[in-house]
Amino acid sequence: MTTARRRHGCAAARPSTAFTSATLAIIVFFSAACAASADPAPAPGPTVAASHALYSYEEHTPTGPDNWGSLEPDWAICRDGKEQSPIDICKVEAAQDMGPLEHTYTAGDCAVQNRGHDFIVKWKEGNGKLTVEKKDYVLQQVHWHVPSEHTINGTRFDMEMHMVHQDSAKARAVVSVLFSTKQPGHPSKPLTGLGPYFKRLAGKNNMDEDVKELVDPSPWVDKSSGYYRYEGSLTTPPCSEGIIWTIMSKVKHVTEEQVKLQAGVSTIVEANNRPAQKINDRVVRYYEGKSAKSGEEKKT
Ligand SMILES: [Zn+2]
Repeated sequence: MTTARRRHGCAAARPSTAFTSATLAIIVFFSAACAASADPAPAPGPTVAASHALYSYEEHTPTGPDNWGSLEPDWAICRDGKEQSPIDICKVEAAQDMGPLEHTYTAGDCAVQNRGHDFIVKWKEGNGKLTVEKKDYVLQQVHWHVPSEHTINGTRFDMEMHMVHQDSAKARAVVSVLFSTKQPGHPSKPLTGLGPYFKRLAGKNNMDEDVKELVDPSPWVDKSSGYYRYEGSLTTPPCSEGIIWTIMSKVKHVTEEQVKLQAGVSTIVEANNRPAQKINDRVVRYYEGKSAKSGEEKKT
């Protein structure tokens, strides 16, 4: 049982016309699964490193996500915020005018670090940029959550990658890519290349290692994919709001072994996904992608 803590945004969503690709509809309702969806989900991963030792993902424990807002004075927004992340994405508003995702990442020097709750790949100098509504955000770091934090119509995926960007005024934008193991034999290339580093750093909290080759994340995000966009928060304490979220609708492949490797970040077996938060009066906008066929999530 998941108790009252489960806060799903689309609880009121109606049974609907599900996965038809409603082209110009202003509001698109995805299936009725919205409300029911949820597994008791564990929680998300860190974006700010400092506090990893102070919180956990196990619900109904003193340091679990139910209590993050009380653990530190400046974490209160984890409890009181009205624009928290992650969310279940089920009701969206078509917004083709947003256009394809714009990014210009490049190859750069980076290191892999075990932060306790997740692995992070951090570029030394920032690494290319994401452009959202004419503002540029420099890529800072990438990390992974197992299982996914965001869900679509209540469907949780095997893994979620967060690419964290920041602009010159320290405003943040995160691009999220969802992964599925449903097609065996299709590994994620980035995870294959970095696999030896994850293996060596497994269970070694706060250890890091420089990556020998330059790492180019530009193939990690498919510009032809559709995406969902909404305003939310960090999914780890201090849960700061004002983050522009972009969830790519094209689900990528990963093998079970690669997911296990990410989950092996800690010797304590623990998921690192925060439960879904209330959507309140936020709107999720949806850019369908160039090909009108942008999501494997429809099958899952
Ligand atoms: Zn994250």
